[in-house]
This record gives sequence, C-alpha cells and structure tokens, in this order.
Amino acid sequence: MGLSRNAKLSKGVKLPVSNNLRKAYWKVGRVTEHAANVRKDWQHKLTTSIVRENQTIAMESLYVRGMTASAKGSADKPGSNVKAKSGLNRSVLNAGFGEIARQLEYKAVWAGRTVVKIDRWYPSSKRCSSCGYVLKSLSLSTRQWVCPDCGQSHDRDLNASINILMAGKAILAGADGLRIHE
Ligand SMILES: [Zn+2]
Repeated sequence: MGLSRNAKLSKGVKLPVSNNLRKAYWKVGRVTEHAANVRKDWQHKLTTSIVRENQTIAMESLYVRGMTASAKGSADKPGSNVKAKSGLNRSVLNAGFGEIARQLEYKAVWAGRTVVKIDRWYPSSKRCSSCGYVLKSLSLSTRQWVCPDCGQSHDRDLNASINILMAGKAILAGADGLRIHE
C-alpha cells in the first residue's frame, strides 16, 4: 500500500482489504468448511451403521434442555467435539441431534427399519435400568452413578440407552404412555 507501519491516518480514511487479510479470510473459510465436512461425514457414517446394524431404533425426541446444556458445555470446553470419534458421547450427539435424528428416520425408511421415538420427558438418564428406581436429580456432568436402591453402578450414557431401548420396545408392544405425541 506504500504506507509505513506507523503512518498516522486521519479519521475516516478507509483502507482497502490487503491481500494478506484476504488470504487469511480465505484460510479461515477453508478451515471452517473442512470442520463442517468432517462433522457431516461422521454423522452419515454413524447413522448408516446404526440403520444397517439394527432392525429397531429407539431414540429420544429432540429436547431443547439438553441442547442448551450442550451448547454451554462446548463454550466452556471449545475442543470437546473432538470426542466425537470416541463413540456415542451424549453431549456430542446432542450437538448434532436434530440432523442425526433426521438421517436415522429417512435411512430407516429406505432400509425397512422401525424407528420409535420416546417422549422427551421420559427420565432415561435418571432411571436405573436394572431396577427402575428414578433419581431425583442427576447433574449433566455426572458420568457414572450407583443406584441407591439396588446398588448397580451405571455409565450414564449406557444406562440411558438401555432405558430408551426398553421404552421403545414397550411402545412397540402396545404401551402408549411413552409415545411422543407430535
Ligand atoms: Zn437400581
């Protein structure tokens, strides 16, 4: 631009965007796009394998409470999405849950699978999948807990998954109490 680094500019002078800045914008754009593609790719692989490997798929309906909590969590720990590769991390699932649920539903139709949705208020995390005892509260950060009634120790996500599956099977067998009404 022909200006020295320390040159003083009078107020209101607008400088054109430099080539370096333009390159930086472009790089940021590329990185963001790459991250989005990695995520999309992961979601498709996940939903395809779930549909391929299961005749019946039970899932919780979209719940705003969980999504809000997850957004807060990722702001505190910006790198937490890295865990996506390590498996069915519940908070990661929540982050892309709407899209994952959408994919599961249309892929299930293609493959002739059954999808059953569980009411968002069903206490899938707080319920002991062994004896049915329901905790009064369970903070989102608690990953493991022991049932005060039967003494069974639980991995939070695994226990919730078992409850969701059991609820799904109950609905398919005719119970209506847990069905999601849309
Ligand atoms: Zn129990």
